[in-house]
Amino acid sequence: MPNIPCPKCSTTIEFDFKTVLDGKDFICKNCNSKITLTYSDNETIFKNAQKVLDKLKDNLDID
Ligand SMILES: [Zn+2]
Repeated sequence: MPNIPCPKCSTTIEFDFKTVLDGKDFICKNCNSKITLTYSDNETIFKNAQKVLDKLKDNLDID
C-alpha cells in the first residue's frame, strides 16, 4: 500500500492507486485533515501509480 505523510500531523496515510487516479480526497485518520492529491503536486506518486496499473493491466491481459 502506498502512503503519504499527513501535511498537518505527519501521520502516515495509506491510499490505493484507484483513489489517486480518480482524483478523490484522503482523510487523515488522526487529525481528519482532507488531503487532495493533484498531479502537479505529486507527480512521482502518480507516475508510480500509473506504472503499477500498467503492470497489472499487462498481467491481466486486458486490452
Ligand atoms: Zn493528520
